[in-house]
Amino acid sequence: MIPPACPFCAVITGQDRTVREIYRDADTVAFFPLNPATHGRIIAQFRCC
Ligand SMILES: [Zn+2]
Repeated sequence: MIPPACPFCAVITGQDRTVREIYRDADTVAFFPLNPATHGRIIAQFRCC
């Protein structure tokens, strides 16, 4: 498998299983980062690469 170009796409493509996913569809994943800058912070990320 080709490595993703960035950590966000690693999450989106399912190669990074260390984050806690909250929501997923074909192009978007929302997740808690491993080391959140702010407690309760959520990242919602579109496929970008
Ligand atoms: Zn990307």
